[in-house]
Amino acid sequence: METLIPEAVRSRHQQQRSDYQRDPHQRPMGSGLELNGQRRDGTTFAVEVSLNHFAVNDQRYVMGLVSDVSRRRHAERALQRTNQELEQRVEQRTAELKQAEQSVREALEAEKELNSLKSRFVSMASHEFRTPLSTIMSSVDLIARYAEGPQKDKVERHVAKIRGKVRELTTMLNDFLSLDKLEQGMVRCTPQEVDVVHLCIELVEELRSLCKPGQEIDFDHEGHDRVVVQDKQMLAHILSNLLSNAIKYSPENELVLLRTRLADGSLTIEVSDRGMGIPKEDQQHLFERFFRASNAFTVQGTGLGLNIVRKYLDLMGGHISFTSEPGQGTTFVATIPQHVTHEAHPADRG
Ligand code: ADP
Repeated sequence: METLIPEAVRSRHQQQRSDYQRDPHQRPMGSGLELNGQRRDGTTFAVEVSLNHFAVNDQRYVMGLVSDVSRRRHAERALQRTNQELEQRVEQRTAELKQAEQSVREALEAEKELNSLKSRFVSMASHEFRTPLSTIMSSVDLIARYAEGPQKDKVERHVAKIRGKVRELTTMLNDFLSLDKLEQGMVRCTPQEVDVVHLCIELVEELRSLCKPGQEIDFDHEGHDRVVVQDKQMLAHILSNLLSNAIKYSPENELVLLRTRLADGSLTIEVSDRGMGIPKEDQQHLFERFFRASNAFTVQGTGLGLNIVRKYLDLMGGHISFTSEPGQGTTFVATIPQHVTHEAHPADRG
């Protein structure tokens, strides 16, 4: 027997054989032992051994079956290696994923921080810029009052120019502030009774100063009723934005029409002009933040006005649409419920 056993374990095997003779028992193939056999040339190979004993004429015999399992063992080792590799790869991928998750979290934090910084800057800058602007405006008013003598006309012309520019700047700053507040979710509808006709006349009067020579705003209201229960400031902002755009984007000597209609529980505001119109390819982007049509670059603006208008309309439960022919004019139509029914939140539409 011992010639089949690797030299290193031969002596131990003799002992094991005597032990077995003393207490013979059946041992199935394999049974968890890693055994090796030895070839004539001294090389070893994996084997499995089963043991059985039996008696013939009171003579005990032991039968051992030895099978060469080196190919199976080889396959098992290969499988084990593959499993280890797979486990390593899973560990590596998990670590990579954790790392990626961490980077995304850090980027998100940085983004939040940047956003809050932007927000604080916009709010601070807008507030701080408005104070000197209002001082400039009051001094300009005083200069206009004191201007006498042969240069009076020139002084008045320049004073009007300064007033116009200060107003433009103030509107811009107000737009930045409004948008920031809207995006922070800080704006709420405060409904109150508003006389639409009264509000429109007031605004038309105010906006007349923006008109170019020969431009007129023509206002008409349809319907017996003229009172809505809505947020007055938002309503005024929408009207004033649509009207100032109509004035800005149309030439001298052209009419701007403002039509309001109050019927069946809703207020319709229509503002039309005979101005430059909006190129067809730009129309789908008109309500996006900072978007300005390709033909508008000679006119001052930020591209925020209509975005704010739409966000206010969302809050008021209203909506807006427009039709425009390049070179011929544009009509905006906003519809708002007569009574604010719910406090909608502005959809996040960029
Ligand atoms: P702003 O006028 O400050 O640029 P708005 O958000 O009010 O920003 O308008 C976005 C763009 O829509 C404008 O830049 C302009 O290209 C276009 N637009 C708006 N109203 C009119 C109009 N009445 N006629 C032609 N183009 C208009």
